Amino acid sequence: MNIALFGGTFDPIHRGHLNVARAAAERFKLKEVWFVPADIPPHKQKAPVTSYFHRYSMVALALVGEPDFLPSLLEAPDPEAHVERRPSFSIDTVRRVKAGLRKSDRLYFLIGIDAFREIGTWYKSEELLGECDFIVAARPGYSLKDVVRSLPKALRPSPAAMRNQKAAGLLELPGVRLHLLPDTHEDVSATQIRAARKRGTALKKLVPDSVAEYIRKEALYRGTLQKKSKREIRRGGSVVKKPTQAKPA
Ligand code: ATP
Repeated sequence: MNIALFGGTFDPIHRGHLNVARAAAERFKLKEVWFVPADIPPHKQKAPVTSYFHRYSMVALALVGEPDFLPSLLEAPDPEAHVERRPSFSIDTVRRVKAGLRKSDRLYFLIGIDAFREIGTWYKSEELLGECDFIVAARPGYSLKDVVRSLPKALRPSPAAMRNQKAAGLLELPGVRLHLLPDTHEDVSATQIRAARKRGTALKKLVPDSVAEYIRKEALYRGTLQKKSKREIRRGGSVVKKPTQAKPA
């Protein structure tokens, strides 16, 4: 069976993510798409990220009614790691999943072109690209032409070597298979949603209703809060602090 891992920060999950998964599922006959929120996204460590628990909850809510889309705890915080938390590296996740697959299963790694453009900077990127097929999804404002240029130098083919393959939507290089998914044009991002929420604009068109309701109930993405309300005390804080080695006072 064909399975895809779809990793991300999902802060929050939105209609763009769902459309990408639907388009990939249809084109690559995916039986399951696993949505894997990262506890500590290695590439988004500059800005604070909403707590894993909220992000996972929103993913789970968004996937209700989508029998082939599964919320995954693969990159959940490790309850044993009280002191030092590690970023979630895709290579570790992919290898853990592969260890549990059957021979007849085929694993894909689903990723948007904006994230793929950074792949050369990822931990063990060359090894990761060799672990499974990649599906690179189009995204408004980015060109799929950038796929080849984004590869780590050692894997980049000559223009002549890839001319025919590009037409077929598949780039097959030694040890690497990249599929291009051009059918995704949903102009929505988590950044837009967080900004819309700060402005007080409706989220209906951007996220499933269940996610919009959760965001409202948990008072997420409202910007700096002055004074803690009862509700904030109940939800126990929505932002992850940078992991620290400091002992509690
Ligand atoms: P942010 O705006 O905070 O950077 P995001 O909307 O890009 O967030 P992520 O959780 O970082 O969301 O994305 C997870 C994956 O989904 C990434 O591979 C990203 O490229 C892809 N993705 C997100 N939105 C879209 C979209 N509208 N079309 C195609 N791919 C998308």
